[in-house]
Amino acid sequence: MKAAILEQIGDITVKTISEPVCGNNEVILKVESCAVCGSDIRIFHYGNERVKPPAIMGHEISGTIIETGKNISHLKPGDRVALGADVPCGTCYWCSNGMGTNCSINYAIGYQFAGGFQEKMVLNETILKYGPVTRIPDKLGFDEASIAEPLACAINGLELAQMSIGKSICIIGLGPIGCMMLELSRAYGASKVFAVQRSKKRLEMARTFREDARFISTEEENPVQVVLEETGGEGVDLVITTAGTVKAHEDALGMVRHRGYVNLFGGLKNQPKLCIDSNIIHYKECFVMGSHGSLPRHHKIAVDMLANGTVRGEKYISKRFGLSEIKEAFDYHESRCGLKTIVKPGL
Ligand SMILES: [Zn+2]
Ligand SMILES: [Zn+2]
Repeated sequence: MKAAILEQIGDITVKTISEPVCGNNEVILKVESCAVCGSDIRIFHYGNERVKPPAIMGHEISGTIIETGKNISHLKPGDRVALGADVPCGTCYWCSNGMGTNCSINYAIGYQFAGGFQEKMVLNETILKYGPVTRIPDKLGFDEASIAEPLACAINGLELAQMSIGKSICIIGLGPIGCMMLELSRAYGASKVFAVQRSKKRLEMARTFREDARFISTEEENPVQVVLEETGGEGVDLVITTAGTVKAHEDALGMVRHRGYVNLFGGLKNQPKLCIDSNIIHYKECFVMGSHGSLPRHHKIAVDMLANGTVRGEKYISKRFGLSEIKEAFDYHESRCGLKTIVKPGL
């Protein structure tokens, strides 16, 4: 069968490898769709300590179970499932206490465990026991189901930031996660919604996800100024920075209201360290926090929200590629022309 192997940083090659063998406590999944994530591109260019080449990336996955080990009774061939990325180890202090995103090992599919950029993959015992493996309803397509993974991370981010009905929110960075946040802001009953993006083109793409939000292009307006002006100088209850830039994080602190929350959702990559005036936090009594990944329970919620149309999965899918076109898929993703790029090994 074919697999896209990350041979080393900057080198991904599609190769024929041996068919996976199903252990007694494992299942084999035929990968139908695997969406490209910004983190796949970062690993491709810069590596990641949890990815040891040769490795198979891809963690936004959906597919069909084609074989089950003899000790597996809860899944059967033909089942359609979606996978999340983060797999709690199940036994460390954090996992034992329901905080699997803080697991001291931090297993993830497409990282330590071979991911979805291949025709068939093994779901090992740890994934099956503790990980996010969610059955998908017939009406939900594989492409849409694959993006339940980033959606689950968005849900975790809003949950930890205490989002609730009536709160105002500002989303900085309108890539796929930012657009998901826009749709979720409606589901959570946000009052006023601000959405910030540098490029006008991307901003226009995002507008269709929530027409009534106040969109701010940083090419034209100062987002801190606009948010303060339009909230009577108070600022917003919650700021989520899906764009991992120092500027986004600084702006977030400038526009959060007293006692509000700032979720530094997007990690800073290849950027200078954030230097903040801690007196802002001191005097605002605001909560500056982060979130990372998601729990299996968030993945289930995400699949349900895609199935019931709360989040319109089809709107995110910009282009599909076969596995042999993995480099083209990465290039397309990096061009930032669209939102989600899907790799389909069956194409
Ligand atoms: Zn991802
Ligand atoms: Zn753990």
